[in-house]
Amino acid sequence: MSKVKLSMAEQAEAFQLSPEYVRISMAAAIELGLKPGQLMRGCGCGCINLLQNYPEGCYANCSYCGLARERPGVAEENSFIRVDWPLFKTELVAEKIAEKEARSEVGRVCISQVQDPRNNEDLLEMTRIIHKAAPSVPISALINATTMTEEVLLQLKIEGVDIIGVGLDGAAEEVFYETRGKGAKGPHNWEGHWKIINRARELYGPMNVNCHTVVGLGETDRELVDLFAELHEKKIACYLFSFNPEEGTVMQHEERQPIDRHRHIQLVKYLIEHMDVDKSAIEFNENGLISRINVDQKILETAVGRGVAFMTDGCPDRHGVMSCNRPYGSYRPGEEFRDYPFPPNENDLRVIDSQMRLNEVAPKNNVGQIS
Ligand code: SF4
Ligand code: SF4
Repeated sequence: MSKVKLSMAEQAEAFQLSPEYVRISMAAAIELGLKPGQLMRGCGCGCINLLQNYPEGCYANCSYCGLARERPGVAEENSFIRVDWPLFKTELVAEKIAEKEARSEVGRVCISQVQDPRNNEDLLEMTRIIHKAAPSVPISALINATTMTEEVLLQLKIEGVDIIGVGLDGAAEEVFYETRGKGAKGPHNWEGHWKIINRARELYGPMNVNCHTVVGLGETDRELVDLFAELHEKKIACYLFSFNPEEGTVMQHEERQPIDRHRHIQLVKYLIEHMDVDKSAIEFNENGLISRINVDQKILETAVGRGVAFMTDGCPDRHGVMSCNRPYGSYRPGEEFRDYPFPPNENDLRVIDSQMRLNEVAPKNNVGQIS
């Protein structure tokens, strides 16, 4: 049921709406000097993440999301992914981006769509505003696949977008249906999402399209590993997020997946994407959880020791270096890291090692030889 009773024209008067206004992640607001504060260990926020703002939040109804249609309260009062996303005039944000770009360099800007009848026109306009103010800053569009069209994908490219992100979130069809599709009284459709992902891949090229994937929505490890392998094969990036229950959402009482599971998933993803490991090297138990990683010990040690597997993964800057590090994207301030927004130091690696309990899935004296 709709939370806002005003017509679109009345909403424009009553609310501060996109494209004129935009939400910005707290980390990005701090980075641009729009909010006071400091990020942990001075890590910086590589990517300026922006979000469309409408009074409903989002007309979709994903069961884990703070912007979902049926979450109580209007979007103005709610938080999205647990930390506040303050609202500013888009022109002001563009100005701040241009100022920072002149001082040093802005890694990337990302504009996220929500489901709303105005979202495509507004995304194009917001892209124009940012691109005009800071033409050399790369721009990603995190699109809402359900309302996206081929024509808009092409227009976005003309307006300056070089990377398309898609919130697939659910790693497999059933979990997608239950958390985002009809099972959640939501509009999203698995096949429709793949149609847009594949079309975007054709239009934008290798590694210029990515799928956000959430660990902990009810999927199995096997489904995640199949998805990693498929996306790797198609040269579509896969960026991991970790489910964290959001108050007031349908999944508010669901537990997060254990940290050792998350670490195993991160490691296996890295092995498939960066160490040429085939998915057949991974074994699963009867519940579809990873039971054995049959990979040479040296490869495993290298993968773990580099630490990159446990960092946030996201779109790169103009030099090809990971830019979208999303501080607090998968955990609340003060909670343990799920993904590190900076390279883990020696102490972090020790923590990761103890969390991972690698010996349980890759015993030192009993590993295979996949390389
Ligand atoms: S489409 Fe995105 S913003 Fe909208 S409810 Fe789903 S996850 Fe949230
Ligand atoms: S990884 Fe970051 S920059 Fe890339 S689409 Fe996702 S949120 Fe946007």
